[in-house]
Amino acid sequence: MYGAIEAGGTKFVCAVFDEAFQIIETTTIPTDDPRITMSLVVKFFKEHPVKSIGIGAFGPIEINPTSDRYGEILNTPKLKWRNFNIYKVLHEKLAVPIKIDTDVNAAALGEYMSGHGKGKRSVLYLTIGTGVGGGFVIDGQTLYGLTHPEMGHILIRPLEADQFEGNCPTHGNCFEGMVAGPAIEARYGIPGHKLGEDDSVWDYVADYIGQACVNFNLILSPEVILIGGGVAQQAHLFPKIRRSFKHYMNGYIDHSVIKGNLEDYILYPKNGQKAGLIGAMYLAKQGLK
Ligand code: ADP
Ligand code: ZN
Repeated sequence: MYGAIEAGGTKFVCAVFDEAFQIIETTTIPTDDPRITMSLVVKFFKEHPVKSIGIGAFGPIEINPTSDRYGEILNTPKLKWRNFNIYKVLHEKLAVPIKIDTDVNAAALGEYMSGHGKGKRSVLYLTIGTGVGGGFVIDGQTLYGLTHPEMGHILIRPLEADQFEGNCPTHGNCFEGMVAGPAIEARYGIPGHKLGEDDSVWDYVADYIGQACVNFNLILSPEVILIGGGVAQQAHLFPKIRRSFKHYMNGYIDHSVIKGNLEDYILYPKNGQKAGLIGAMYLAKQGLK
């Protein structure tokens, strides 16, 4: 048996799965005081012993395995979790190999292995939910540099007609500050799932997501871009995002995929809401090596 944890800002989903990637048992634990949450995680894996554990975690988090702070949650607004080391606690209590990565890198890996990225060399995964983040996999390896990328905080060009100033506490109108769920809600005080499909908010949101996809395409040249998270539940956004991408790309990249209709290039993840947990399952397998 192997273990996987999707360690999110509101809940930890833990799973035990077998050699055939069948999930045998799961549990959901609220993201509370880290000592309470982690003691419940440890209890679950003591009851269901595993050979290794993969974790896709909220961040910012140290994911460089050569760092002595590997697995430490960094500068998070969740003060109780700041400088808490998830890896250390689990490793001390369970004594099995543990591989930890960001939630979005895990989701990208899950899509690379068994989703819309299968058979491709590189996958970009974006989540647009409470926050915005991105993960990238190339040749089976997730990307980190000095730190892990923070793709949600890139700068985009706001539309003139858009009066909203953005709500990122650090940058105001960065990508996340304009398109995350709370940014959508901040415009009129109405959450995204209650807005009609023809609301102008979606034109802005799709425009900015399209801009971001152009930037990510130009920098990373991913073979596919998957967009998950709560806001991506709005299926009508996808044709608008593809149109925005085409508009800003303006034919610059000379590749049949980019010149095509983009339906297989910018799309909702195959693993849907499970992308992160499935990715953590592959991390558990990688952790054994
Ligand atoms: P998290 O990012 O916390 O893991 P989600 O990806 O579900 O969780 O994102 C939650 C955010 O997405 C909230 O701000 C919520 O308003 C927004 N959201 C959730 N469902 C929808 C929907 N169907 N349409 C638009 N926005 C949604
Ligand atoms: Zn920002």
